[in-house]
Amino acid sequence: MKLQVFIQQYGTEAKCKAAFKSLRDEAGIVCRRCKGEKHYYLSTLDQYKCAGCGSRQSLRSGTMLEYSKLPYSYWFTAMYLITFTKKGLSSLEIQRQLGHARYQPIWEMMHKIRSVMAKRDYQYQLEGQVEVDEGFFEVMAPKKPEDGSEPDPDKKQGVLVMASTKELPVDKRRKGRPATACGFVSMSTIEDKRAITIETKMMSKICRPAKIITDGGSSYVYTELEFGEHQVAEGSTQEKLKMLPWVHIAISNAKRKILDVHHSVSKKYLQRYLDEFCYKINRRNALKDPLNALLIQAVRLKSVPLVRGCG
Ligand SMILES: [Zn+2]
Repeated sequence: MKLQVFIQQYGTEAKCKAAFKSLRDEAGIVCRRCKGEKHYYLSTLDQYKCAGCGSRQSLRSGTMLEYSKLPYSYWFTAMYLITFTKKGLSSLEIQRQLGHARYQPIWEMMHKIRSVMAKRDYQYQLEGQVEVDEGFFEVMAPKKPEDGSEPDPDKKQGVLVMASTKELPVDKRRKGRPATACGFVSMSTIEDKRAITIETKMMSKICRPAKIITDGGSSYVYTELEFGEHQVAEGSTQEKLKMLPWVHIAISNAKRKILDVHHSVSKKYLQRYLDEFCYKINRRNALKDPLNALLIQAVRLKSVPLVRGCG
């Protein structure tokens, strides 16, 4: 969607609110008390009233915007910028673009959008042939905890990266490029590299049976048993990279984007930035209108509340 079209469609608060209401109506309103589906809309209060029991809910309740006092136009603009810019934008840049005085509400809004992106991707599973590896992301030096204990000195965060791939037909292969096409990518922060930690994450995200490709590290001792097929990349580092091309491309792209846009992120919120990265690359070819796709989720999925403090 070109900026001009966005302004035409969503250029005012009234247009954004009307579009949000029509998306909610399309999704259907369900009464929290009696589960009734017939409602009247009280336009002066922006509330739905259940025809069965009279219970009311606001236009924003049960959606990404629940508990937010920010204008609809802020949410629409932020969702437009997050979905239509290749790299994404920092909360500080969005705050500048919106001309809002305070940083914290904008930062919270951006993280709520990312939490809905994460919920949406959580519904997908990887299948077939899957590359798996770990990456280590630089994170901000931790602050001294308020209880006086020593801060965690670890400035790197481990991330488990999984990418489903498909073999390309021989005539579609290009010299110097992977012999596979990349499908769906998932990234998840990990506290350690123990086999139990890694396998639990893999089992929650990959359909079984599957063909798993790894570097054969000790974290993958149960992989063959769990998934049926385990191919280990062997040889020099270069040869191993050839066997696991997509996880490494995903790791280096994610690191570069996070560094370019957000400069540094805290360990606590790294997962949210990874969620945004994965959501966007997983839809890189599929969506004609990524804003509308995100809006559809915005009225169906609640955002995850945040603990105060910026990162
Ligand atoms: Zn009701």
